[in-house]
Amino acid sequence: MELFYRSTRNENVMLTASEAILQGLSDEGGLFVPERIPVLNVSLSEIAGMDYQETAYMVMKQFLTDFKEEELKSCIRLAYDEKFDTEAIAPLANVDGTYYLELFHGPTIAFKDMALSILPHLMTTAAKKQGVTDEIVILTATSGDTGKAALSGFADVEGTRIIVFYPKGGVSEVQRLQMVTQKGKNTAVVAIHGNFDEAQSGVKRMFEDPKLREELREAGFRFSSANSINIGRLVPQIVYYVYAYGGLLKNGEIQEGDPVNVVVPTGNFGNILAAYFAKEMGIPIAKLICASNENKVLFDFFCTGTYDRNREFVLTESPSMDILISSNLERLIYLISGRNADKNCELMEELRTKGSYGITEEMKAKLSDFAAGYASAQEMKQAIRDTFENTGYVMDTHTAVAAAVYDAYKKDCGDQTKTVIASTASPYKFAKSVLDAIHPGAYEQQEEIGLADELSRISGTEIPLAVEEIRHAKICHTRECDGAQMEQTVREILGLR
Ligand SMILES: *Cc1c(COP(=O)(O)O)cnc(C)c1O
Repeated sequence: MELFYRSTRNENVMLTASEAILQGLSDEGGLFVPERIPVLNVSLSEIAGMDYQETAYMVMKQFLTDFKEEELKSCIRLAYDEKFDTEAIAPLANVDGTYYLELFHGPTIAFKDMALSILPHLMTTAAKKQGVTDEIVILTATSGDTGKAALSGFADVEGTRIIVFYPKGGVSEVQRLQMVTQKGKNTAVVAIHGNFDEAQSGVKRMFEDPKLREELREAGFRFSSANSINIGRLVPQIVYYVYAYGGLLKNGEIQEGDPVNVVVPTGNFGNILAAYFAKEMGIPIAKLICASNENKVLFDFFCTGTYDRNREFVLTESPSMDILISSNLERLIYLISGRNADKNCELMEELRTKGSYGITEEMKAKLSDFAAGYASAQEMKQAIRDTFENTGYVMDTHTAVAAAVYDAYKKDCGDQTKTVIASTASPYKFAKSVLDAIHPGAYEQQEEIGLADELSRISGTEIPLAVEEIRHAKICHTRECDGAQMEQTVREILGLR
């Protein structure tokens, strides 16, 4: 049965999966949501026998119903291959009875690879299906992680170009090196003289400029976005929660039908929303535990029913979760409103004008699947240190936020349900913070890049290729520009004038 996609802000919109992937965002600003969440059409014990690619096909075909079997299988094959450093793609580590779902074995050693390695293939396939022959130009502003994951995903994918803007001086040295050493003849990386907000506003301006769009079309290009609200990023993220359940079953850690909890370190609410979709599909997930850092806007929302972004923005050592507007929450709001686009519009308008909104008691009652917590910098570091000292396992700062929240949750309510923690980055990506948590003060004077050796020594793990590479790779991108020159820079890169 064909599955169509609706906009969270306009009940008249109805698109196929490939149209929704190609378009990204609905014209009136709404997000695409499947008109119903499909129920798994295989048994849990069958899932236990599947490898990652088979699980991906089984899950994704139910969402992307207008993709032909060979089209979807080809996307999956091209995405989940030797780019990942383990055949399991997303292995589960049993650490003292808690399961860490390691989502960082891809090319940029963080979880965004899970979706961004397949999105380019879904997009070019969708374009073919829609008869679009223009070259797709991905424009992205990044504060660090997304830029590299998108570059790596789109590099040398035929029919696409990718241009990434980052704030000069506003990303870590590792993040900068990861981007400027990116290979691929269709890639461009530009440092802008300004902060992340300026980069993002500049990109937004270009997306919304009808004159530029027309000019691009004449030259055979069309803009598209790889940001986390694209349904082509959400759907691939459901896969690993299904796969994790199958893995636990296969290893005899649980019996068929046993519930498990899932803890997700959250920023934009994308990763945990994918877990919610997995639960709705029929995976026996008991609690979805939403873990925030000190930017605890989501924790407050789950406690009070009020979302309020009017607060101080805190820079933390889990920077990929430093967010005050969790874009993907809009999908959950729409669903708990009973798919009421008018109600959702009203709330999103309040968010835009006042910076806050409150949901009704009826909507709040539908959030009982969720629990929420947050961790301070100190609690996060304590989780890294304690886990290392007790088990030898080293986790990154984002994962540690989840581990700290889970620990407090367990103490608080005594819930003994088996639990999976989404482990979103390799400790090598945040080596300095991680080592500082383990031996406070010992590494203050050292360069981040050199610390990989030390981390390898104390954890007994191999330095990932992604880190080795940037230590020796050649710089390929040196372009810089002012915030006001972004459009001109894009024209030059695309050879428009
Ligand atoms: C993006 C990111 C997150 C947050 O994921 P959301 O889907 O935005 O909630 C957590 N950890 C890491 C390492 C990330 O890169």
